[in-house]
Amino acid sequence: MPPPVVWQQRWHPLREEWVLFTSHRRGRPWIGDTHRPADLPVPHYDPTCALCPGNKRLRGANPPYAGVYWFTNDLPCFSAEAPSAGGDDFYQTRPAGGTAEVICYSPDHAKTFVDLTDAECAAVVDLWAERSVALAARAEVDHVLIFENKGALVGTSNPHPHCQVYAGNLIYGFIAREAESARKFWEKTGRTLGAEILAREAAGPRVIAQDGDWLACVPWFARYAYEVFLLPKREVGRLGDLRQDERASLGRMVREVATRYDNLWRLPMPYVMAVHQAPCDGADHAFYPFHLEFHPPLRKPDTMKYLAGPEIGGGSMTNESNPDEKAAELRAVPSVHYKRLG
Ligand SMILES: [Zn+2]
Repeated sequence: MPPPVVWQQRWHPLREEWVLFTSHRRGRPWIGDTHRPADLPVPHYDPTCALCPGNKRLRGANPPYAGVYWFTNDLPCFSAEAPSAGGDDFYQTRPAGGTAEVICYSPDHAKTFVDLTDAECAAVVDLWAERSVALAARAEVDHVLIFENKGALVGTSNPHPHCQVYAGNLIYGFIAREAESARKFWEKTGRTLGAEILAREAAGPRVIAQDGDWLACVPWFARYAYEVFLLPKREVGRLGDLRQDERASLGRMVREVATRYDNLWRLPMPYVMAVHQAPCDGADHAFYPFHLEFHPPLRKPDTMKYLAGPEIGGGSMTNESNPDEKAAELRAVPSVHYKRLG
């Protein structure tokens, strides 16, 4: 087992902030809440689900769709009808222009990403790319954020396999910071931040899976115990830059990461997954390091990583583990899902 990382701060090169590592504290007594995700049978169709085929939603209804399906969020965070507001030079406001969409991975309510076939995985990533390109073409859209909240522990009450697409005039904070850090790194070194991180992780002990196009790792600067980054081996900025075969391999790799997560404790691992792609605000983002991030809230099968005083109160993350060790755990489990292994 790799040694603990004690009283060490690691620089997060994308977010440009320090992460505090305290893995000597991982075994501390815990008498707080425990949350073990339930692995209960889920019906293939739920008449009360707003995402199942044929069902009514807040506005309208879903067609009897097969395969992947997208629609405009019934309560979007951004809107073309956003009213202009008041404010002044100090308390500034601006309309939240844009739109938000929902993408269903499958008509089957019981499936998750781990259950998709190769073709179904590819269809999901194809749709991510198609919607990103279409939305980026709108004048009011400066960035397209695609994310999946999986599991009740990250606030999803509906297990139907889906993700969300936020496309508005807001460049989300981490994306803006990454665009800035990548630009500064290029100006300082003449190298790209994505290539630098890929080279470091490809050489290290934190790789959990890879193929010809993608590398999955627990990054050296991980903020969560089982955080995984999915890095492209060819430098790209956006989903729309990916070749057809790279989209297909990305889909398979997302499925492999989700499968390894589930296999860790033989339970459906909750996570927040985000596709980090370059803004489309008209500025030059040639050096933006496209990648996917997975942030699972669990540090043990029944124990959450709570964001508390240091994180919420102070604004810096504490990671109570050694990324080398967590990567070894994710690498050691099978790449075939436990439900298919029996
Ligand atoms: Zn459903």
